[in-house]
Amino acid sequence: MIDIKKVRADFPILKRKINGKPLVYLDNAATSQKPQVVIDSLVDYYTNYNANIHRGVHTLSQLATDAFEQARIKIQKHFNTKHNYEIIITSGTTDSINLVATSFTQFLQKGDEIIISAMEHHSNIVPWQMLCQRTGAILKVIPINENGELILEEYDNLLSNKTKLVFVNHVSNALGTINPIKKIIDKAHKFGASVLIDGAQSSPHIKPDLQALDVDFYVASAHKLCGPTGVGILYGKEALLNKLPPYQGGGEMIKQVTFEKTTYADLPYKFEAGTPNIAGVIAFGVALDYLNELGFDNIAAYENELLVYATKKLLQIEGLKIYGTAKNKTSVISFNIANIHPYDIGTIIDKLGIEVRTGHHCAQPIMDFYKIPGTVRASFSFYNTFKEIDLLVDALQKAKAMLS
Ligand SMILES: *Cc1c(COP(=O)(O)O)cnc(C)c1O
Repeated sequence: MIDIKKVRADFPILKRKINGKPLVYLDNAATSQKPQVVIDSLVDYYTNYNANIHRGVHTLSQLATDAFEQARIKIQKHFNTKHNYEIIITSGTTDSINLVATSFTQFLQKGDEIIISAMEHHSNIVPWQMLCQRTGAILKVIPINENGELILEEYDNLLSNKTKLVFVNHVSNALGTINPIKKIIDKAHKFGASVLIDGAQSSPHIKPDLQALDVDFYVASAHKLCGPTGVGILYGKEALLNKLPPYQGGGEMIKQVTFEKTTYADLPYKFEAGTPNIAGVIAFGVALDYLNELGFDNIAAYENELLVYATKKLLQIEGLKIYGTAKNKTSVISFNIANIHPYDIGTIIDKLGIEVRTGHHCAQPIMDFYKIPGTVRASFSFYNTFKEIDLLVDALQKAKAMLS
């Protein structure tokens, strides 16, 4: 069970006002708020043991290195990977995807095929298009139905011996749809293709078991999981990571450098050139501890209650249409009211303290599919309340009266 009073007290930002009204933060799909323990962890690092890692023999460097590597182990345990060195620290989901897409270049040939889905975030479309331009590989897209679900029969038709890579998000940030990733992974493996799952939107709600999924690559961002910005992870199976060449050259990622030849460090350092966001990685470990203490089952159950309640209340507004009505959803609701532009709604309800996202949500192909310019998106986290949903609905009624 989520003790909502106690949880809300953990997040200092929830006490602030926006335009004189209490903050109602409903943009959790863009980034989550941070509990005090995570903020304290950042301050503690810079106050007490700030030093560069993996380099010095001095005490501070060792303290920082230990804390950094402890965080990697927390990440490994959380996602249940076999080895801690299969967790590569990056600057975020986008960075992780670009790493894989760039490193794969030499393994693709003209005519090879890459499959993505029609509900991807731009960060899971553009790097693959660039990879196709470099290699002559062809991008294929799994279509969606009106409910915003992948059409799996079409996926079956796209798979062939030419398929080398499959990239799908676990949860769509624009629609909230939870995709059947185990099925998608198993089908791809029958054709020898590698699968990357974008967990940026699912990881705040669903704790995945990466070994049980048998996924080849998995990516996520700390900032959507109550952690700091500028930290992400790339999980890759050991054999695949060993096969891929480094993404960036620099310090930290080498064994030996001469002007004739450089040998690369072992995993994970081969992919970690330069000084990482040390404080952020340590604080991400603290964020995972915080979430695990609440329990992902509790988080998912409470967020589902919020989703059900909000869906029911929102549909009572005349002219409101929800985009993304999949059976299996996380607490993301994209909608429009009659022909009112989403931007106008967002601007008015912000005056009432309510923070939602408006626009295409970095998923323009989905908006094209529904033939709309964008949506209003309210996304709920375990620190939101039923009362906040009522405030959202009241604010939308006011906005609608003003704009129609
Ligand atoms: C947020 C998000 C991304 C991008 O994450 P960044 O942290 O901006 O790199 C990618 N995919 C999905 C599904 C997302 O929700």
